[in-house]
Amino acid sequence: MVILKTSRELQKMREAGRISANALKLAGTAVEPGVSTLEIDTLVRKYIEEQGAKPSFLGYGGFKGSACISINEEVVHGIPSKKRILKSGDIVSVDVGAFIGGFHGDNAWTFACGDISEESQRLLDATRESLFEGIKQAVAGNRIGDIGNAVQRYVEARNYSVVRDYVGHGVGAKLHEDPSVPNFGTPGRGVRLLPGMTIAIEPMINMGTHRVKVLSDGWTAVTADGKPSAHFEHSVAITSDGPVILTIPD
Ligand code: MG
Repeated sequence: MVILKTSRELQKMREAGRISANALKLAGTAVEPGVSTLEIDTLVRKYIEEQGAKPSFLGYGGFKGSACISINEEVVHGIPSKKRILKSGDIVSVDVGAFIGGFHGDNAWTFACGDISEESQRLLDATRESLFEGIKQAVAGNRIGDIGNAVQRYVEARNYSVVRDYVGHGVGAKLHEDPSVPNFGTPGRGVRLLPGMTIAIEPMINMGTHRVKVLSDGWTAVTADGKPSAHFEHSVAITSDGPVILTIPD
């Protein structure tokens, strides 16, 4: 069931989104060679808790971190660890959410650590742009398939592939609400978008095959061929004035 938010609830979601976005920005400033993913996670957790909010992911399904930090061929759900030390050339996807005032924000970004290859930079640029192509379609009267199709067309034109096993989602009082928001689809198909809907659009785009597998830790999803993957996400409200990005930092 899709839950529509009132304008007052959207205000609260902007606040949850603002804190989520600030936490993500902070994580990005910490991405440097020699830093462990646990150090980044700790920064994120402290910031969110100092704002009187709760990290949305901490304890979710037993997840041990406040952020998911996924490096190179890791697609999503990487577990922060003091043993994972970033090195120059890594691409580092950080996914973080904050819960405050009864609502969640959810956002992700893939950061370059030190000097990355041109090939990796192109993947990051295409994935980020595909997110904004998707957001442009988050318009009342459109359907979910219009969003997914816009993302898919943009990245497949550049010979990248769209992860199928993980998708975006509604976001609100719960971190994951209806509807599912795939990064692939057919224009004009799927749930109709209405003002008051709030969704997390989050392309996960691979350099090689779209296929992924989950490591024995039960969480970390990696590409089946070991090639890099990127992930960008915003929480977005559908309004009568068009799409409004909720995860905007200060
Ligand atoms: Mg999400």
